[in-house]
Amino acid sequence: MQYEVGPIRPPSESSCLLVRVSRNCPWNRCTFCPVYKCERFSLRSADDVVADIEVMANIAERVRGISREMGCEGEITSAVIRRLLWEPDGSAALQVATFLAQGGTSAFLQDADSLVMPPEDLVAVITTLKKRFPSIIRVTSYARSRTLERRSKEQLASLHEAGLTRIHVGIESGNDEVLRLAQKGVTAAEHIVAGIKTKAAGFELSCYVMPGLGGRALSEQHADDTAHVLREIDPHFVRLRTLAVAEGTPLGDAVDKGEFEPLDDLEVLTEIRQMIAGFEGMTGEVHSDHVLNLLGDLAGKLPDEHRAMLGTLDTFLGLDEETQKLYIIGRRLGMVNRLIDLYDSGVRQRVTQARKQLETAFDGDMEGAVHQLMNRLV
Ligand code: SF4
Repeated sequence: MQYEVGPIRPPSESSCLLVRVSRNCPWNRCTFCPVYKCERFSLRSADDVVADIEVMANIAERVRGISREMGCEGEITSAVIRRLLWEPDGSAALQVATFLAQGGTSAFLQDADSLVMPPEDLVAVITTLKKRFPSIIRVTSYARSRTLERRSKEQLASLHEAGLTRIHVGIESGNDEVLRLAQKGVTAAEHIVAGIKTKAAGFELSCYVMPGLGGRALSEQHADDTAHVLREIDPHFVRLRTLAVAEGTPLGDAVDKGEFEPLDDLEVLTEIRQMIAGFEGMTGEVHSDHVLNLLGDLAGKLPDEHRAMLGTLDTFLGLDEETQKLYIIGRRLGMVNRLIDLYDSGVRQRVTQARKQLETAFDGDMEGAVHQLMNRLV
């Protein structure tokens, strides 16, 4: 028993059942994005997706049956999950079991822009999903601003009514020049129209922004204009995803030719500080839940925690250079997540040791070392 699964989902949707309604990205031109570059976009038929949902529902029934056989009364415990490792279709069973073990309440529609599916087909898919998995209360998806802008109010409302609850949009920047250079295929004004329309249809809106995307040349404009777009939309969630330049992408080529100068970690944090300082009057949550972000604890609810977030950034930017460098290496090695982690003497010692080893391996080129470590995470 198998069903299709796409390559990615937002970090915040890790407990979701993954339902693939289209393959790859219909746009696929963003210069920084390596995810679907060699893949062709195709839309799946509603019948195919519904057939996948039936397969998932049958797997869920079988997984619960295995649990009952093991005396776990249908509950998906770690023992049940270990047992599934030996099943012939282990990965599909594991994905469904992990979703059930985490409550079975959320599903994510893949891949990059599910709202390109004709709305009536998507309504049929979501309706089947909720019928076959009655425990699901959240259905979320990525969508492009351009696609949202083209959907009528009625179409968006019908999707929300069917059960689609949250939409993740890659805003990336609110500066038109940055958007043009990144070939995002959308303007700041279109982002605003799409965001306001999406919220008005009743969806929770999660906006991803990309610190560093303006490079050195456009960093300040990128920060200010992105804050402006976010203020206009006032999304429920702002999520930071720091730029990492991936080899083999058009942006990687631009760096090689000297046409794009990436920011270093401290410059990125300075840019984020400028951006967040512009979040006056906003009411949503800010999250830094991507592994590429330097500060994993930079999060808060606006407006109450606005000052605290700025304080977190000021604390880091005010540290001595040695501690900053140590933290950067520790974070890129996955040894620390929050600044406070470095104040554990054992952790600090281990990071210091790892730094020495890296210095030797990279012949003192720590910038190159950090770049390579980040590239592993793209
Ligand atoms: S729209 Fe999203 S998935 Fe598609 S190329 Fe751009 S960043 Fe990548």
